[in-house]
Amino acid sequence: MNRRYLMLCTLAVMIVLAGVAERQLADDTQVISKVPTTHKVVAITIDDGPNYKATPEMLAVLKAKNVRATFFVLGQNAEHLPGLVAQEVADGHEIGVHTYSHPSLSKLSPQKVAEEFDKAEKAIAAIAPKPTLFRPPGGFYNSQVTEIARQRGYAVVLWSIDPRDWSCPPMASVVEKVLAEIKPGSIILLHDGQYPLPTPLALGIIIDRLRERGYEFVTVSELFQYNEVRHSFSMFNRIF
Ligand SMILES: [Zn+2]
Repeated sequence: MNRRYLMLCTLAVMIVLAGVAERQLADDTQVISKVPTTHKVVAITIDDGPNYKATPEMLAVLKAKNVRATFFVLGQNAEHLPGLVAQEVADGHEIGVHTYSHPSLSKLSPQKVAEEFDKAEKAIAAIAPKPTLFRPPGGFYNSQVTEIARQRGYAVVLWSIDPRDWSCPPMASVVEKVLAEIKPGSIILLHDGQYPLPTPLALGIIIDRLRERGYEFVTVSELFQYNEVRHSFSMFNRIF
């Protein structure tokens, strides 16, 4: 094999790798369910609140453990309990939008989807910094939903670990599911939209066990900064 042929092969492989990185980047900017990283960082996300009892319990655990999370709040609940959203902000948590009334967006007209954003944004506007994260209820979306979210400046965020805590399984099963599936860059889905839930108790144990394994907790926006595929792609851009 002569040297020129070897160089051509190397160049071809690098171009293919750059293409893969670009595609992953495009997917990432569409809908994010985890972040590719080797750092032991994960994000806890908490959906459907605030709820008058579940949310204060979750906030108390997070404060006691000194962990910041990301709350995907519902506009209609934020309207009823603005003080709890204000407390989330005051405690350093990130606020994301989870629509106003929790419909399956993929079944709605563009007008109705826009209305869900408008009403949710109005409910949150006076209490929290303008959110940049959006999570579609139930994880249901289509290209119309992602396009509307993108136009409004949101990253669409799903999850990589779902212990189905909303269905009130035994507390231990919530903990076990998270511990079994955790990886660097995981996004954990939990809930605070109803009461009672096994979640506040499970949350404290999850935090302790993951810390024992060397994990740190960050908000979803902070987790994006650990995206190594994105960073390696920008490195490719600089090289070529
Ligand atoms: Zn939800």
